[in-house]
Amino acid sequence: MDIKPIPTLSEEVNDIRTRTANIVAEHIIPNEKDIYLGGDKSKSLREDIRQEVKKEKLWAPHLPEEYGGMGIGFIAHAYMNEILAWSPLSNRLFGVIAPNSGNQKVLLKYGSEEQKKKWLLPLIEGEMESCFSMTEPDNAGSDPRSIKTTAKKDGDHWVINGHKVMTSNGIRADFAIVMCRTEEEDGSGGVNSRMSQIIVPTDSAGFNIVRSVPIWGHTGGDHVEIKYENVRVPVENTLGARGSGHQAAQDRLGAGRVFHCMNSIGQMWRAFDLMLKRTIEREVHGGKLETKQLIQGFIADSYIDIQTARLMTIHCAEVMEAEGNPRVDISALKVYVPNAMHKVVDRAIQVYGWKGVSSDLPLAGMYQGARTLRLADGPDEVHRVLIAKEILKKYHEGLSWDFGF
Ligand SMILES: Cc1cc2nc3c(=O)[nH]c(=O)nc-3n(C[C@H](O)[C@H](O)[C@H](O)COP(=O)(O)OP(=O)(O)OC[C@H]3O[C@@H](n4cnc5c(N)ncnc54)[C@H](O)[C@@H]3O)c2cc1C
Repeated sequence: MDIKPIPTLSEEVNDIRTRTANIVAEHIIPNEKDIYLGGDKSKSLREDIRQEVKKEKLWAPHLPEEYGGMGIGFIAHAYMNEILAWSPLSNRLFGVIAPNSGNQKVLLKYGSEEQKKKWLLPLIEGEMESCFSMTEPDNAGSDPRSIKTTAKKDGDHWVINGHKVMTSNGIRADFAIVMCRTEEEDGSGGVNSRMSQIIVPTDSAGFNIVRSVPIWGHTGGDHVEIKYENVRVPVENTLGARGSGHQAAQDRLGAGRVFHCMNSIGQMWRAFDLMLKRTIEREVHGGKLETKQLIQGFIADSYIDIQTARLMTIHCAEVMEAEGNPRVDISALKVYVPNAMHKVVDRAIQVYGWKGVSSDLPLAGMYQGARTLRLADGPDEVHRVLIAKEILKKYHEGLSWDFGF
């Protein structure tokens, strides 16, 4: 890992990147295997790393300082993320634990003071866990307006009924943020403003976990299917204004996509680094891999994929920081980056032979992650449709597309 200051970035952002890289390279990557093994050694390693992170004031880059975080801007966090991503363990060790981190951001923006005290603070302190429950098995997750879970008023309570799936972290969550229809008597219809997000304690009567959904062959994981059967929660558990649920989900996902893509870029960077090291070491058919032109093609194509993905993502982060309209850019990178990562990691796996698909290296996990990302946070097709719609809108207004911003 060779992270040098970037001349176009501020001293502060370069300093954050350098200090983050020191911890990831010196404390996390060399200990990955021991940390994964679990047990006492893993526990004490994780504790030591967390202490080091806090000492360096690099804890919780997504949170403001008054909530114990770094209080850094969007761009700084995005640049830090590509360094964190070198190890799949880093985010957790730096206090950014999905989906808790996304829920913390939503609670910060939409939560009342009372809700912040009751749910946000314990979540930040690590005394509580949370999940976000939107996707349903019988309705298209790619069209959140189609969800059918309803919350109906009964006095000063909501009564929630619905069926959700792929609620990550649901198995250990103390509360779920649940996307519900609140504004229709019959639960039908489909406009944005009809949705609300409601905080549901998972020990509520009627919060019934049906199963843990096995992903990529892993059973017993934490993505769960849940039935909400006449779950009663006080009306004050509504997050933000009634009808703001769709907007809150978009806020969460928009910024999240940029962070996920910077994370993908960090992973690609490590995969590229691993691939290069292998090509200069491994002898095959009378020469090093690096001398084979087919493999030189891998190096060039991966460089192009990473650099394109990186510049697209940074451009989008800059548009967001400048409060421009990032809709097209977010969708474009959400399509481009996971596909680029898929190709970059695939080539690295190929040059490692059996080792590439083994658990000796992080490549197999990265490969599954890249494939999964093409579905999660909105599938490729939905983002393509959105890009075309937004661009066509300009032309129908008699304008043309401005690539400059
Ligand atoms: C690992 C993982 C974790 C997740 N965690 C959570 C979570 O914590 N909480 C949560 O609520 N959800 C979660 N999800 C669910 C995720 O958000 C949905 O899977 C995603 O939104 C897609 O919805 P769907 O699976 O219902 O697919 P569908 O909506 O049924 O879409 C299926 C396919 O149809 C195609 N398609 C859709 N629309 C169009 C179109 N307009 N034109 C052409 N083709 C189209 C696409 O190829 C798409 O992949 C998670 C998913 C994964 C994989």
